[in-house]
Amino acid sequence: MSQESQTGPTIRGTGVVAGLAYGVARWVGRAEQAVVGGVDPTGVPDAEASAELSTGGTTDGAPEGTPPDDEQLERDRERFVAAATTVAGRLDQRASLATGVSAEVLAANAVLARDRGWAKAVVKELKKGLGVEAATIAATETFVVMFTRVGGRQAERITDLRDICARVVAELRGLPEPGIPEFDEPGVLLADDLAPADTAGLDPAMVLGIVIERGGPTSHTAIIARQLGIPCVVAAAGLTSVADGARVLVDAGAGTVTVDPDEESALEAAAADRRLRDLAAGWTGPAVLADGHAVSLLANVQDAAGAEVAATGPAGGIGLFRTELAFLDRPTEPSVDEQAELYARVLASFPDAKVVTRTLDAGSDKPLAFAGMAEEDNPALGVRGIRVDLIDRGLLDRQLDALAEAGRRVGGAHSSPWVMAPMISTVDEARDFGGRCRERGLTPGIMVEVPSVAVAVDRFLPHVDFLSIGTNDLTQYVMAADRMSSDLAALTDPWQPAVLRLIRSVAEAAGRAPGGRTVPVGVCGEAAADPHLACVLLGLGVSSLSVATAALPFVGAALGEVTLERCRQLAALALDCDTAREARAAVMAGSA
Ligand code: PEP
Ligand code: MG
Repeated sequence: MSQESQTGPTIRGTGVVAGLAYGVARWVGRAEQAVVGGVDPTGVPDAEASAELSTGGTTDGAPEGTPPDDEQLERDRERFVAAATTVAGRLDQRASLATGVSAEVLAANAVLARDRGWAKAVVKELKKGLGVEAATIAATETFVVMFTRVGGRQAERITDLRDICARVVAELRGLPEPGIPEFDEPGVLLADDLAPADTAGLDPAMVLGIVIERGGPTSHTAIIARQLGIPCVVAAAGLTSVADGARVLVDAGAGTVTVDPDEESALEAAAADRRLRDLAAGWTGPAVLADGHAVSLLANVQDAAGAEVAATGPAGGIGLFRTELAFLDRPTEPSVDEQAELYARVLASFPDAKVVTRTLDAGSDKPLAFAGMAEEDNPALGVRGIRVDLIDRGLLDRQLDALAEAGRRVGGAHSSPWVMAPMISTVDEARDFGGRCRERGLTPGIMVEVPSVAVAVDRFLPHVDFLSIGTNDLTQYVMAADRMSSDLAALTDPWQPAVLRLIRSVAEAAGRAPGGRTVPVGVCGEAAADPHLACVLLGLGVSSLSVATAALPFVGAALGEVTLERCRQLAALALDCDTAREARAAVMAGSA
């Protein structure tokens, strides 16, 4: 297949601590992790665990399943207590050397190792005739089953339980404690999952990044990686295919792990990222270029809580409120009143600043149960976004009514709320949408996500008051590459020069709209969250950037380093390239 770069496969997960890391991959020993097997979500310990249980052995060679006499039982109980106490003592010692969350987590695990309920459960298993190692594992698994059933945060503690169990079993076996491999050079740590006892002792100078196959955003791995400032990706399905010793580039902002990337550009990107992370750590806003030019740097949110969090930070407002995400779990359409209440809360979170609400972008990867869409062979090119209006005109009208009502309730700067439609592709749609908004006193805009709008944008401008470029979909449609495909990640890269050219022409056209108007053009796709690309976008003529709240300091800090003139020069460098890789490399080199 002819892709533009020679890099290996890209694995996707969820980035929980933004940043780039490039280095040699080091796996946490899988044999050690397998001391205790996994559990099936139904609560039945899996084959690996069962096999482990049956080979755990009884003490002194007594046949499996023979209940021990009292003396034997007491000996085994004492062996367990001694091993668990030793492990707890080591955890306490590490806690005393650590600080903050790490210390708390380690101390909590030491308490877990001394837990009386666990010891009692071990004795119960010993009475069934299991050896002390097998009884330790079986007792742990009963708690794992319980935690799995409870789910949520409790389920994320399963890793802690299994880790403590593995340490106790190693102690019983007279083996060294399982843990992190030795790093003889800085690298990236890979694991099925990590235990707090491991993550808490990590040296950020050696561990440049962490990728785990399991875990979630609230797992201990994520919490401690965040504290240590180590870029981290969790839930990276398919990670097992990456060999120990392979070179990997972790882009936790994008949630990707690229195997064997182009070395030179990976090293440059990682070094630039480290500099930026240091700057971002001290950035509190507002967004201003090095020449004093103020930039409208806004937040992307998906509900009222997200808007309220954004309002506590440096965001200059909201550039994209993805309303469909607030209703993804709803079987039926929320009433106009309920919608108005939600929209009013989001508007009120920024009483004096711009808030752009997007009408429901249902369909494709965001199916809304109540939008009445049929199964389609090709949903990304099907009934999604504004096109839902073709099958249910009332849905959009009711949403616009709700937003207008929210504007009346909040008033002030929000008496004519900004609202934009996703997936606009024809002038008729823009005209119709603009008209329906204005009837209700709303300020209409459209997203530029479909190439037909980008290439003929001057014809759309008379009908709207602003544009917002959705680079995620614009890139997908320009490159004819599914944005969900990890195999096509090199194609769905917003650094593609063809995409950059389109953005430039949209910004230029909006700057000379009919009637001498200048129509503001924002970018709210992920491209705006890439600090280097953000500078390029400003240089292409974009007037605002909207990014995830967590990405704001990175973008804000990068903007503070450049003048508008420099942004224009960087944009010219990128436009003068043939490939996304070259464009990115040219801008990185130009920014160094
Ligand atoms: C986009 O396409 O860039 C965009 C912001 O919309 P979404 O990611 O929600 O499709
Ligand atoms: Mg989109």
